[in-house]
Amino acid sequence: MADQPFPAYASVVLDLALNKPLDYGIPVELAGKVVPGMRVNVPVRGQQRAATVITVKDTPDYPSVKPITKLLTAEALVTPELFELALWMAKYYCTPLNQVLKIIVPASLRKQTKPKEQLFVMRAKTREEIRTFCQQNRANHAAQALVLDVMLKAKKGILLTALMERAKCSRSPIDSLVKQGFLTVENVRIDRSPLQDEEYFLTQPKQLNREQEEAFAKITGSLDKGQFATHLIQGVTGSGKTEIYMQAIDRALAQGKGSIMLVPEISLTTQMIERFKTRFKDKIAILHHRLSDGERFDGWHKIRSGEAKIVLGARSAIFSPVPNLGLIIVDEEHEHTYKQSEEMPCYQARDLAVVRGKLSHSTVILGSATPSVESFFNAAIGKYTLSTLHNRAEASSIPHVTIVDMRKEYEKAKGLTPFSEALLQGIKKRQAAGEQVILFLNRRGYNTSLVCKQCGQAVKCPHCDVALTFHKGDNILSCHLCGFIMAPPPSECPSCHAPATMKFRGIGTEQIETMLRAILPDIRTLRVDADTTKHKGSHQRLLREFGTGKADVLIGTQMIAKGLHFPEVTLVGVLNSDTGLNIPDFRASETTFQLITQVAGRSGRGIHKGEVIIQTNMPDNSTVQHASRQDFRGFYADEIGLREMFHYPPYTHLAKVVFSGKDQELTVRQAEEFRTVLLQQLPDEYEVHPVLPAGHAKVKDKYRYQFLIKGKNMFGLSRSLESVKNSVKLSSTVKLFIDIDPSSTYF
Ligand code: ADP
Ligand code: ZN
Repeated sequence: MADQPFPAYASVVLDLALNKPLDYGIPVELAGKVVPGMRVNVPVRGQQRAATVITVKDTPDYPSVKPITKLLTAEALVTPELFELALWMAKYYCTPLNQVLKIIVPASLRKQTKPKEQLFVMRAKTREEIRTFCQQNRANHAAQALVLDVMLKAKKGILLTALMERAKCSRSPIDSLVKQGFLTVENVRIDRSPLQDEEYFLTQPKQLNREQEEAFAKITGSLDKGQFATHLIQGVTGSGKTEIYMQAIDRALAQGKGSIMLVPEISLTTQMIERFKTRFKDKIAILHHRLSDGERFDGWHKIRSGEAKIVLGARSAIFSPVPNLGLIIVDEEHEHTYKQSEEMPCYQARDLAVVRGKLSHSTVILGSATPSVESFFNAAIGKYTLSTLHNRAEASSIPHVTIVDMRKEYEKAKGLTPFSEALLQGIKKRQAAGEQVILFLNRRGYNTSLVCKQCGQAVKCPHCDVALTFHKGDNILSCHLCGFIMAPPPSECPSCHAPATMKFRGIGTEQIETMLRAILPDIRTLRVDADTTKHKGSHQRLLREFGTGKADVLIGTQMIAKGLHFPEVTLVGVLNSDTGLNIPDFRASETTFQLITQVAGRSGRGIHKGEVIIQTNMPDNSTVQHASRQDFRGFYADEIGLREMFHYPPYTHLAKVVFSGKDQELTVRQAEEFRTVLLQQLPDEYEVHPVLPAGHAKVKDKYRYQFLIKGKNMFGLSRSLESVKNSVKLSSTVKLFIDIDPSSTYF
């Protein structure tokens, strides 16, 4: 059309509100520069608003449009492939596109457009010349000599700010040294990557054993052809999965392709990071939530530019803008940390790995000793290629497991005791032999509740529907959901006001440590749980201390269940293996099986044979039995039968629709109203469950009600939910939250 005022047009989505794309004209001076994924400013009702370009086109959908004001980024922040992924997510997870884009491009990247530059000081003469100058001028130019002392120690150079700090000087002695030609100051781009300034010895790939070789051959089969395929490696802990990942990454590198490797929680993966750094050095970018904005910004640009071809990170690393992506790995693929459950879009990074693999023709590897029931099912029906590693890669063997019936122990001890006789004997034996022990208990604090003997009520959080936990060290009761603290613990019952009837119940890690020290006075213990790891770096420090033999026993919650490799540990005790089984959730058995198996796998990873003691009140429970034998196939066979019978994933998909608000009555009513309208719109193929209080019926003064939907087609369901969202008027005080494929149906 000749009379069009603009050479081209762009559809954009605004950062705020409105999911609907809007059209704007591309002015002549920006012609050819605007591409999908780019950030721009556009006028909306007289105000400038940030937006993301979705498409560029020749004609607008509306007759008169305003022009784009300016470009906020020089290039597309979202690559076309990530953009496609974002569109998929918006549709599947029933979340507005702008909200999805916020997750894909973190806030720190939307703002800055240029990497940070800082002044960097370097030596301009030889060390010998500098030393001579120092000797001659120390008396009359003390400040300059001090600056040069610092510079002599620096490897290549040092940031100006750091130099001034270390030499305790102002700018002037440095400037005068620059004038005299001893130093130079340069504006450099600072890489804030946490890997900087560390040196690593490179390690060589290991000769793969037969099982590893078979798995690797299948993987390279698709990798070499640049084909999308998903491989599931089921291998016991220590069977050499990580070695396969690293060799696959190497292969991708040799083909000029990038890789993304997801790990459940980067802070728990110190040992894995070390191994990757020694193999790949600075080709790797590490992403985690503790990075500063600057570090994230640099890491992101290193990835985007192709400088770092390997990305290692937690779930959001799946959105890394790796150019020419060839390989995506999800380690410990069964872990629930891959699921975003706190915020929409409630994405599952493992599933997105497969979706992104398909979009980018990448090879996907999922690995676990205890795969999720869904992934193993996909392998069983041939959607994924399965490889199994049965043996540990190094000489160590699978540990010997004993199940101890705690009911008998209570009889013997004439009361509750957290330690069976076998476990105590085992700990003493390891202490004497200089070997190490891990004790696992999934409860932190000293006592898990304070209960009234008169009325039977536990002291609850005033803001949440949960019992308060006693922490003896601080002499407080605390809420593990909202952080509320009651100090000191009440001596009178808050419910029935009976005096002096309060009794502590349920043992946590803090008490286990105290009790163990009382029984074995010269035992050295370390405790790793959310209470002992509040400070940055404390988690790593505690683990390092244990690794270097500073304690005989490591006591911890699920924080110690994963990924750790301590060769001196020859006994693992699981103190209460069955508590998770009582949660009314379709994944309760699966989670318990995974947890016991993972913890047990920490034993006997070195030359000494390992032992595992599983304490339980349900010794005959099939999940406990399968876990004790590390029998994944046996567990899967039982579990998949139940899932089919009761119609749960992988035989169907689930969606959880949650309503939360301070007004309890209003919240239930709106949940009911929403559900009624949805029922009218939804085809019969979906099963809609009744509205029920959530597992935590109240959190931070907000009541929570939810209902479940079962069905096969989540895109269809998402569309219906979207339309109900638009037709039912929810009160501004009631929040709607949609969780597609929730990891729990209860909480
Ligand atoms: P997983 O990831 O399955 O727990 P790892 O890859 O960490 O297993 O391997 C466990 C240990 O065995 C590591 O110390 C690793 O270096 C070693 N290892 C792995 N593969 C081999 C191999 N083919 N030959 C020798 N050692 C190996
Ligand atoms: Zn609370």
